[in-house]
Amino acid sequence: MVRSSVLGYPRIGVHREWKKALEAFWSGRLGESGLHEELQAIRLDHLRRLKEKGIHLIPVNDFSYYDHVLDTAVMFGIVPRRFGYTGGAVPLSTYYGIARGLKDAPAGEMTKWFNTNYHYIVPELDGAEPVLTENKPLLAYREAREKLGISGKPVLLGPLTFLKLSKGYAERDTDAWIGRLLPLYVQVLRELAEEGAEWVQLDEPVLVTNVSEADVQRLKRIYETFASAVPRIRIMLQTYFESLEHYRDIIRLPVQGIGLDFVQGGEGNLSSIRAHGFPEDKVLGAGVIDGRGIWRAPLSGKLKLLRELSEFVSPERLIVQTSCSLLHVPVTAKGETELPAGLKNALAFADEKLEEVVLLARALADGGAADDAGLEAADLALDLLQRSPERSRGDIQQAVAAILDQPTERSPFGVRQTEQRKKWKLPLFPTTTIGSFPQSAEVRTARQSWRRGEWSGEQYAGFIRGQIDRWIDLQEEIGLDVLVHGEFERTDMVEFFGEKLAGFAFTRNGWVQSYGSRCVKPPIIYGDAAFVKPMTVEETKYAQSRTPRPVKGMLTGPITILNWSFVRDDLPREEIAYQLAYALRQEVEALERAGIGMIQVDEPAVREGLPLKEAEHAAYLAWAVRAFRLATCSVQDTTQIHTHMCYCDFHDMIGSIEAMDADVISIETSRSHGELIGSFETNTYRLGIGLGVYDIHSPRIPPVEEMTSMVERALRVLEPGLFWINPDCGLKTRGAEETAASLRHMVEAARIVRAKY
Ligand code: GLN
Ligand code: ZN
Repeated sequence: MVRSSVLGYPRIGVHREWKKALEAFWSGRLGESGLHEELQAIRLDHLRRLKEKGIHLIPVNDFSYYDHVLDTAVMFGIVPRRFGYTGGAVPLSTYYGIARGLKDAPAGEMTKWFNTNYHYIVPELDGAEPVLTENKPLLAYREAREKLGISGKPVLLGPLTFLKLSKGYAERDTDAWIGRLLPLYVQVLRELAEEGAEWVQLDEPVLVTNVSEADVQRLKRIYETFASAVPRIRIMLQTYFESLEHYRDIIRLPVQGIGLDFVQGGEGNLSSIRAHGFPEDKVLGAGVIDGRGIWRAPLSGKLKLLRELSEFVSPERLIVQTSCSLLHVPVTAKGETELPAGLKNALAFADEKLEEVVLLARALADGGAADDAGLEAADLALDLLQRSPERSRGDIQQAVAAILDQPTERSPFGVRQTEQRKKWKLPLFPTTTIGSFPQSAEVRTARQSWRRGEWSGEQYAGFIRGQIDRWIDLQEEIGLDVLVHGEFERTDMVEFFGEKLAGFAFTRNGWVQSYGSRCVKPPIIYGDAAFVKPMTVEETKYAQSRTPRPVKGMLTGPITILNWSFVRDDLPREEIAYQLAYALRQEVEALERAGIGMIQVDEPAVREGLPLKEAEHAAYLAWAVRAFRLATCSVQDTTQIHTHMCYCDFHDMIGSIEAMDADVISIETSRSHGELIGSFETNTYRLGIGLGVYDIHSPRIPPVEEMTSMVERALRVLEPGLFWINPDCGLKTRGAEETAASLRHMVEAARIVRAKY
């Protein structure tokens, strides 16, 4: 027999019941016991599915009330001091307080889980004295056994990864922290062993990043402690998202299993095994089914890979599993009846992946009997998709190849700057916004009426024009220098373009958790991406017709569209980025032809695509920059290209941002506590730059002085002639009144600072 396993299952439920329960609880519509009941029902339903599909090692404790990293911190009593925790079980109100913030205590910082779109709450170790508040994995294990007779595989975040993801301690104290956490982990594991758990999965994804020699020594200490303190439990040391670093050291650790990703970083892991073999006393968790992509697996190819692995590890010691937790894919593709058949049949969401894992485990055990109909069906479905006309468009491929042959240089910035100054005659420190204005209930209702067919297209377009009129008037009255149309016609900055480009499809129910109860439904790029007809010209041109001031066109950039979509896996991402860039370039040119002379191409997601291995950063940034330039380089010198990025850690990226060669970049600053300005201090940035002067994440109306001091601080570092004044990010989620009031303050701040120069 060959065993099957998965690393984790989505939490959100088939119809996002999880999200709805959380939000009902937060709003007071559902009491605490009601919440526990609803979440338990969801959890048990998941476990039943895993059991029915025939998975051998069923994960437990992968479920969470918000986020599994927060769960781990709370389990160890690591609660930031501002929440007034004094020991004992952590109340639910404190748990959600850390996640979402309380009146006097800001939420814990949220950040991206490796290179995924899932966000976790960063544990704050500062001042904490860890204790075991509750053995959560034990409760999950017990529940599965008592309710469903399942002897599950508890999943825990491993100690090294937990520490590396935490903040509030100095690097030199790492070993002391390991010393504090180890006894708690040992207690958790011991209680699990006593309860009868056979395997536990300890997630150490940090081992695919650039860990040091010292960290390898720490791992030895950690896993040797577990082996001697809890010899009865079998540990699967699980890694994912890339190939394992320090392979030879890690496979010698005293654990019973090593889990490797054979999808992302598959080549690296495979070559490590080929070069160094795999120890005979261990089980290999072979992550061959992609836990992050949404495509059906080419099963006969996967079987071949497993066969190769079984030359190094005998089949009884192989566990066929997903490459990572299924948290990153939607629950089931079953309801997606509206997609073209060729596409629908090629999809595998979480439930379909369970079937793939089981099928492969069975096929491998059969040895040779590859006539399984399931394997053939998968290959056939992928083959059909591959042969669909959208998948490969000669016209697009040729056109993209042709522009890739041309240089992406615009005239030097100095030349453009002179031309643009002549043309636009903007004041010093021009004021502008990032693009969107409040999407009121009225806007959302109008869109629904139109989508449901109750409103005609013309009626809806008329409504949108009305919104544009209102906000153009308001922007003029407030005194902004560069106006925007307000993005009222867009729900989402990627979906809007995806719906208008060729090569995209949209699911009905393909939701995945992004952070907390917030789910996203990324578009699917399944064919060659291509421009069909102008997407933004009508609204932008209309807005420009209402004012003598410049109206900035507003597009989402190629890398952001790429990074926020589910992407086909038969082409390199780089190539897809160029297709998107070519499509957007046609939109940029259409806007320019329509008389729009300032065009913003938003790229908030550039950093998100950064590979986990540092050695690969430069190559990624090079093609990301090239894609942006392809999209924007064909305009006249007088046409001003803007871009926007939300806050991220820029310090090691400024060279690449500069290489994008946008005439103006606007950046979010308020959440960076001045670090951002520091980055620009050490790296002289020579293009136009707007540092956000107020945080748009809260309804607060910042006083004028706060903004002037923000500007003055930035001007100590940045050249006045290049400086723009704008809010941090789009204003879509804000109310109309607070938006107008804040912008008035911002324009006033600009006037005050101008008077001093
Ligand atoms: N132009 C977009 C907006 O204003 C930018 C959003 C973003 O940066 N995420 O909403
Ligand atoms: Zn932003």
